[in-house]
Amino acid sequence: MKNYDVVIIGAGASGLMCALTAGQRGRSILILDHTDRVGNKILVSGGGSCNFTNLYLDAEHYISGNPHFCKSALSRFSQYDFISLVEKYHVSYQERQLGQLFCNGNSVEILNFLLEECRLSGVKNLNRCTIKKIEKDNSFTVITNSEDYVTESLVIATGGLSMPTIGATGFGYEVAEQFGLKVQSRQPGLVPLTFSNDDLENYSDLSGISIDVDVSCNGQSFREALLFTHKGVSGPAVLQISNYWQPGEEVVINLLPNINLTETIKQWQKERPKMELKNLIGELLTRRVAHRWLELWYHNKPVNQYNEKEINEVADIFHVWRIRPSGTEGYKVAEVTRGGIDTDELSSKTFEARKMKGLYFIGEVVDVTGWLGGYNLQWAWSSGYCAGQFV
Ligand SMILES: Cc1cc2nc3c(=O)[nH]c(=O)nc-3n(C[C@H](O)[C@H](O)[C@H](O)COP(=O)(O)OP(=O)(O)OC[C@H]3O[C@@H](n4cnc5c(N)ncnc54)[C@H](O)[C@@H]3O)c2cc1C
Repeated sequence: MKNYDVVIIGAGASGLMCALTAGQRGRSILILDHTDRVGNKILVSGGGSCNFTNLYLDAEHYISGNPHFCKSALSRFSQYDFISLVEKYHVSYQERQLGQLFCNGNSVEILNFLLEECRLSGVKNLNRCTIKKIEKDNSFTVITNSEDYVTESLVIATGGLSMPTIGATGFGYEVAEQFGLKVQSRQPGLVPLTFSNDDLENYSDLSGISIDVDVSCNGQSFREALLFTHKGVSGPAVLQISNYWQPGEEVVINLLPNINLTETIKQWQKERPKMELKNLIGELLTRRVAHRWLELWYHNKPVNQYNEKEINEVADIFHVWRIRPSGTEGYKVAEVTRGGIDTDELSSKTFEARKMKGLYFIGEVVDVTGWLGGYNLQWAWSSGYCAGQFV
């Protein structure tokens, strides 16, 4: 048996940040991971360019059973703290839209400096390690396929369920249950939504078309791009709203968020009276979507032939498109897992389990889910750093 001050299970974003922070405090650290390389999700993040944080970091951009839980960690290790690290290693980056910071080069640059910081603090890292069992006596014993490790501080940083192909498992939830901690139900988050059978028939051939929309569900709305897919809808607006959607619920989409269609049609009646409505709306939206909507939901004719009531009805079908998704595309493609270890079970300062001294949970495994745009990695950095100060 080998002894370490801290054993971290999961060599992803939060585990590495916790390791390097605790390592800098002189603690002896071992990170265990069952895959053959560390930081798989960092590597695939942001389409390979890692959207590593967001300038507009705010607790309101996170979903959790307790919306206040994330505040302390986000303020103790903020976007600027991570940016300092990025700049220390001369990684060039840019702000894209909505405060999202991406590497100009490759995500591997982020992973490399995390590994370098771990190396400098003497962190030991073991891959292809299967955890068979965790036992608790005075200390924790982690029984693996190779050796057994004893530690006073055991950190669970195994992430969520999304993308099992690159290493995701439900291990963290099982450990929580083993020690009697409550776990909130899990659902895929930041995930494309799938059409019902009727909608599939109506819209699946629009696959590939992207439009700027306003999408709403459960009192939350996002103004970003929607992408039609052959299974349903995706794109940033839909991924964002998927975090708020519950099975069976309706999603409302405004296809012309910039325009008051009622007023615009009245204007057209004066200026372009003989033009067919579908072609005029096609100039604002895409032609195929405008034509399809009028084929499906209204009658098309020259614009001067619509009366007041009809104008309002036409405006409604474009401003208020209601869909009731049949589901999501699931963990195979989801960027995150909503739900997880109940935040009531953890200290928001140290991430230690209230019921089990020495056991910590950090990162995505906890019931804190960020918006699209660098928020989830920032949560991993912030929670990893805070736990790293205490383990
Ligand atoms: C395709 C994709 C793109 C993304 N892009 C972004 C982005 O650009 N910006 C952003 O903010 N967020 C992004 N995310 C989300 C972000 O990557 C995660 O929220 C973040 O990595 C979570 O960090 P974590 O440390 O909690 O878990 P992870 O980074 O998932 O790390 C968990 C680690 O635990 C290991 N593990 C799991 N089970 C076991 C087990 N049983 N035994 C041993 N080890 C185990 C895994 O192999 C993994 O190494 C993206 C996610 C995906 C899937």
